[in-house]
Amino acid sequence: MTSLVAFLFVASVFSIPVSGFQGKTNADAFWPGGGFLNNKYSKLTYSTSNAVDRLGYSRYVDDAINEFDSISDANIGFRKLSSGDGEMLSIVIDEKNSSEYARDAFGIMIPFKIDPKTTSYERASNYETWAYAKIWLNDYMMKQHKFTSDERNKTTIHEIGHAFAMEHQYDGVKSVMVSGQISYPDLQQLDISNLQWKY
Ligand SMILES: [Zn+2]
Repeated sequence: MTSLVAFLFVASVFSIPVSGFQGKTNADAFWPGGGFLNNKYSKLTYSTSNAVDRLGYSRYVDDAINEFDSISDANIGFRKLSSGDGEMLSIVIDEKNSSEYARDAFGIMIPFKIDPKTTSYERASNYETWAYAKIWLNDYMMKQHKFTSDERNKTTIHEIGHAFAMEHQYDGVKSVMVSGQISYPDLQQLDISNLQWKY
């Protein structure tokens, strides 16, 4: 009985900070120095691979783009290009859990910069200005973990959130930027207010 009481006490102590936990706001929500130049987000060019259509991810990408595009009081816009037409953001699928970057992840966003010597893309850090970014949505992993539509939607919004230089939020925060298999079909209020602050 003593141990049960102790356990309940510990559990209740922990439940207070978790349920009322504040997420990162404004500058704290973004990678310092990271992302495209701010004005690039007013017309972010992007492409989707054929597999995005073929495997049914177009609806998630379209939904996500629409979520960002419709934020009021933020200078955010998109233009879709064909793959390889100089887009800033490419969205592709990892079908076999075989890509260099996305292996064992549900999705990942990797930024690139231009190497001044070779003028080709090289990997950039999250904390410098990017020239190009690529998102892999790992269909293999999401199938393995039996992702629902809302969870696939969240993964897509989450990775595009990273392309907006948004960092992860702490577990338990109501945000699409929390890692993991989470069911948020929409940007949450915290995400929207952070994007409004920056853009
Ligand atoms: Zn993430």
